[in-house]
Amino acid sequence: MSQSASHLPNQLFIDGAYRASASGRRSALINPALEQPFCEVAAADASDVDAAVQTAHRAWESGWRDLSPGKRTEILFQVARTLRENQEAIARLEMLQIGKPISDALDEAGLGARVFEYYAGAVTKFCGQTIPVSRGGFDFTLRESMGVVAAIVPWNFPFPIACWKAAPALAAGNCVVLKPASLSPLTALLLGELAHKAGLPPGVLQVLPGAGSAIGDALVAHPLIRKISFTGSTEIGRRIMECASKDLKRVSLELGGKSPNIVFADSDWRKAADSSPMSVFANTGQDCCARSRVFVERQVYQPFVERFTAATRQLIVGDPTDPKTQLGPMVSAGQRATVEEFLADARSRGTRFAVGGDRPAGRGYFLNPAVLLDVGAQDRCWREEIFGPVAAIVPFDDESEMIREVNASPYGLSGSIWTNDLRRAIRVSKATQSGVLSVNSHSSVHVEAPFGGFKTSGLGRDLGMSAMEGYTELKNVYIAE
Ligand code: NAD
Ligand code: MN
Repeated sequence: MSQSASHLPNQLFIDGAYRASASGRRSALINPALEQPFCEVAAADASDVDAAVQTAHRAWESGWRDLSPGKRTEILFQVARTLRENQEAIARLEMLQIGKPISDALDEAGLGARVFEYYAGAVTKFCGQTIPVSRGGFDFTLRESMGVVAAIVPWNFPFPIACWKAAPALAAGNCVVLKPASLSPLTALLLGELAHKAGLPPGVLQVLPGAGSAIGDALVAHPLIRKISFTGSTEIGRRIMECASKDLKRVSLELGGKSPNIVFADSDWRKAADSSPMSVFANTGQDCCARSRVFVERQVYQPFVERFTAATRQLIVGDPTDPKTQLGPMVSAGQRATVEEFLADARSRGTRFAVGGDRPAGRGYFLNPAVLLDVGAQDRCWREEIFGPVAAIVPFDDESEMIREVNASPYGLSGSIWTNDLRRAIRVSKATQSGVLSVNSHSSVHVEAPFGGFKTSGLGRDLGMSAMEGYTELKNVYIAE
């Protein structure tokens, strides 16, 4: 697969068509594997935001809101089919703009299509209640669409996250203004175009590329936006919640993480050690669910570290166009520099590097995955989200002390627990303050199940029927006898 750019979506997508930004401003995209600019994309400003939101609101009022559930299902299934037919084109754009290895990019394009299938089917399975209220009569609930939803997404999983916000919002009868991260507008634009080709009426899904610093506030504050669904950093999430509070806009926030991987000596710890490197290094560590804090019971700590380190050395870092590549470059020079600051801080404190943390030779924003040992409990690398390929492994002796340390993090997104003791699996799952846990596995994302965080990792849930509830208002109707 070539890294050259042929036809690229490089405008705003509003009212079912591509158009230039009002200002005519454009911003360059850099292929992070080659350190080469490869295209320029229109950058929206506040007046484009207003046009997109107004158009979406008209599309909601004049049809999408009142479309029959059967018709909405049909259109969303057709969107899913169209995404599947274009899986390669989507994957190729994702690879170009963020350096995602092609095998992952293909999987994630498939995941996006699967999300549309799920919510296409969900439209007619999303039920209200009838409630036997004490005074008699007839009482029932309705789940109503809200209006225009702003979906603001990050650059690490641009396509699947755009889908898992847009699909349930549309299925619930809303219109969507999608704002991709400035590093990754291409797959979001292609989603808008393909969804429209599949039969989504003009204006129902708008895509506004642009910097968060330029259009974020205008979008969040726009009076016709009823709900903001955000995935990104905790810092920006806080700002959005503050801004949304003025009109009491609904928000759902999927934010940062510093997730634990807990390995007990009674587990199949060899299997855990072999699979754990990818639980933190996949997507070059740029993953909110990265299991970056590894807690290993003392009896197996030494052999676990050796095996984890050996498995890390086996990872294939390099050219994202090669189907065998597991780790591509970091998304940008800036992101790599941030991670290298963390590593410099670790070195200055005498932290031991079992492997990695250096740059491979040649072009591209690559960084070899790093395994840190003997990190101090207060070190930045242990406490803060790094968002790069860095794991720290520590031994523990006592289960409850370890859980106290796990829960001392302000985050609470995901986590893995390795044990063959069923009672322990249940006890530790209950005690861990995280929204998404897996036992003897590292998987966090299931299209059918709720995904989201405790504490500063977020508010509300993506995926499953929980997400669809989050894109509706709940109305109760009482009819007297
Ligand atoms: P970011 O917060 O910098 O940006 C996310 C999005 O917000 C981008 O589209 C950006 O343009 C936009 N934005 C920036 N300023 C804004 C403003 N003032 N108003 C509105 N929007 C604004 O995050 P990032 O660097 O793109 O992604 C990395 C972060 O995302 C990490 O902290 C990671 O943990 C988190 N993340 C969380 C999840 C999850 O599901 N919990 C998933 C992926 C990433
Ligand atoms: Mn950022």
